[in-house]
Amino acid sequence: MRSTLNGLCETCVWVRRIANDRGSVFLLCRRALTDPSYPKYPRLPVLRCLGFEPVPPPPTPTEK
Ligand code: SF4
Repeated sequence: MRSTLNGLCETCVWVRRIANDRGSVFLLCRRALTDPSYPKYPRLPVLRCLGFEPVPPPPTPTEK
């Protein structure tokens, strides 16, 4: 089961993980790059977000 510490951002297609030199990881919302109504670094956990788009599940192998 995936962690939900980061809320919706954890499974959103718009998130990008940014790591600094000290090993800390920040979540950047890429929607904020074109839409100022979104925070660049959302306060976590994000529990509600109109911009949330879930990462699609990986394709399942087809049987032959
Ligand atoms: S759109 Fe919302 S849920 Fe997705 S990364 Fe940005 S703040 Fe998080």
